[in-house]
Amino acid sequence: MAAGRDLEVGMAGTAVVVGAGVGGLATATGLRRAGWTVTVRERRTSLERYGTAFGIHPTAQAALDRLGVGEALRRHAVPYRRADIRTPDGRVRARLPLERIEKKGGRPELLISRPYLIDALLAGLETFGDVPVTFGENVTDVAALAAEHDLVVGADGIRSAVRTGVLGTRSAPRDTGTVAWIGIADFESDVHGETWGSGCFFGMTPVEPGRTNWYATVPAATTADELRPYFEGWHDPIPRILAETDPAGWIRYEMRHLYPALPSFVSLSAGAGRGRTGAAPAGAFALVGDAAHAMTPHLGQGACTAILDADSLTRAVGAHGPSGLPAALRAYDAERRRSAQRVAFGSRTLHRFVSTRRTALRDALVSLLP
Ligand SMILES: Cc1cc2nc3c(=O)[nH]c(=O)nc-3n(C[C@H](O)[C@H](O)[C@H](O)COP(=O)(O)OP(=O)(O)OC[C@H]3O[C@@H](n4cnc5c(N)ncnc54)[C@H](O)[C@@H]3O)c2cc1C
Repeated sequence: MAAGRDLEVGMAGTAVVVGAGVGGLATATGLRRAGWTVTVRERRTSLERYGTAFGIHPTAQAALDRLGVGEALRRHAVPYRRADIRTPDGRVRARLPLERIEKKGGRPELLISRPYLIDALLAGLETFGDVPVTFGENVTDVAALAAEHDLVVGADGIRSAVRTGVLGTRSAPRDTGTVAWIGIADFESDVHGETWGSGCFFGMTPVEPGRTNWYATVPAATTADELRPYFEGWHDPIPRILAETDPAGWIRYEMRHLYPALPSFVSLSAGAGRGRTGAAPAGAFALVGDAAHAMTPHLGQGACTAILDADSLTRAVGAHGPSGLPAALRAYDAERRRSAQRVAFGSRTLHRFVSTRRTALRDALVSLLP
């Protein structure tokens, strides 16, 4: 609990969430459901309604159900049931484990485009009467926020000001030497999955009817003009997707991850400010989503892990009550840190495996997959 701020037992607390991305909006919804007074500070001047499709794993769907936004999610999401790993000439090497995910989770993986997921989360917040987001606020002074609120949540992405303000700069975004290009084509492909080449790969998934979500990774220096030649001669419909979509609509995505992994997702201190002593600033802080464990997109878990963090943190805060904030933060860290960091490690390992130029060895290993 923030130094100098005492909560009366039974009264809900006040929280400020920094960042109105997937993690921030989900956290704000969960805190409101727990009865807290919440404001969200977002540095952009409005919610960005762009982005391609996110895979939503059954565990993240269950978390969205608990946050009260499962129905809104399902209104626009499509199931992802069959996808193969192919060679550039179109031979199927293996199948992505979607059937196993469905069997284990009791429901299929879903795909939803980012704008619809943001809408679903906003709808969740609107059920409480208003959307408490202040736009155009680039948060820099986290100690000042902590002095005014019982809990500060850093949901401010890979370059998190809350993370550096509380935990310093030892963990920072690291380049992987590759970029992802992502987009949506205006026709529906019946081929889904990933095609792995030498040092680059191309993926296609369903999204809304009549459209195809695609993503490609290539070496970092590649410009939009240089993207198409990488995939010349690859199987259908990859060249068609790149030929028929306007590069103006493609998004270039730096592939970075947070390294080294954080020693904690939370901080609770009555100490003096970091600037003066090197200690964490006074107050109660929690990090969620990319701020806590930004990862490469290879396992498709960026949005899922942010949602799971939000659900876990806000359940813990709700269960322990405002006077139990220290226990709630410890419970959140225990439930999420190792699990999210394992996913981030797996994603980084898959990145290396997929991006290798030693394709003969990689493809032989892939062929051994069940
Ligand atoms: C506009 C946008 C489009 C995206 N599109 C895709 C996509 O198509 N495919 C994909 O795989 N991933 C995409 N991502 C990334 C993906 O959303 C995240 O990796 C994942 O969902 C985790 O979300 P997050 O909420 O932790 O972080 P983010 O989604 O990065 O959200 C962080 C939010 O915090 C805000 N913020 C940052 N610093 C401050 C500050 N100092 N003060 C106040 N606010 C701050 C940012 O403006 C942003 O809105 C996108 C992210 C954004 C912001």
